[in-house]
Amino acid sequence: MPAKKINIAIDGPAGAGKSTIAKAAAKAFGFIYVDTGALYRAVAYFMLSRHIDVNNADKVASYLCDVVPELKYIDGEQHVFVNGEDVSDKIRTPEVSMGTSAVSAIPRVRNFLFDLQKKIAAENNVVMDGRDIGTVVLPNADVKIYLTATAEERARRRHKELTEKGGTVSFEEVLADVNKRDYNDMHRDVAPLRQAEDAALCDTTNVDLQGAVDMLINIINEKLQAESAPLSPST
Ligand code: C5P
Repeated sequence: MPAKKINIAIDGPAGAGKSTIAKAAAKAFGFIYVDTGALYRAVAYFMLSRHIDVNNADKVASYLCDVVPELKYIDGEQHVFVNGEDVSDKIRTPEVSMGTSAVSAIPRVRNFLFDLQKKIAAENNVVMDGRDIGTVVLPNADVKIYLTATAEERARRRHKELTEKGGTVSFEEVLADVNKRDYNDMHRDVAPLRQAEDAALCDTTNVDLQGAVDMLINIINEKLQAESAPLSPST
């Protein structure tokens, strides 16, 4: 029987630095990094590019059978494909972000992506990031971490990133966007974003990137060592 794979679940709100931090941690352990948000974004991209109303659950659900999302690893980087097209960059626009928030609240969309995420985690040692990984997708993950930072700090980081790419969006707009996505993700009926009871809390508000990566690696190391260490007999 193949050895059981190690699964590390990382959840948290938009802009907490999950992808950068989780990717660095995955690299440190030689695991695959899986950004599940990219799968939801791929579904939203598909719907938006066909002018399907992302707020119309029945309509979106009726088109799901035409969507073929895939994750591929090219030079160690995750690329997301939809129906054979590499959409890794196209799914990062504010329009797709907002559309994703809408499609991800549709239970049939979540069911549609559930099996794919489970399969990847069953076949690989993974660091998987998302909103419901520790609570729904991988409830038996070896390590669960809830990564967060204040909304202002997350908006500040996102605004810097967008400005550096030549964007002209204001900080206030980015903050409003962050707050709206937080609200949508935390208040939807299915798989709302929340910290799993057995997840370690990692707040990166006042921590720089390297500090956050070190925090994550320490938590993972401690948990994995605790799991593999034999229980000392009580005397
Ligand atoms: O992580 P990222 O910001 O790219 O995710 C985009 C959106 O996808 C989130 O705002 C959330 O609505 C949705 N999502 C989700 N469940 C996941 C991953 C992402 O609902 N596991």
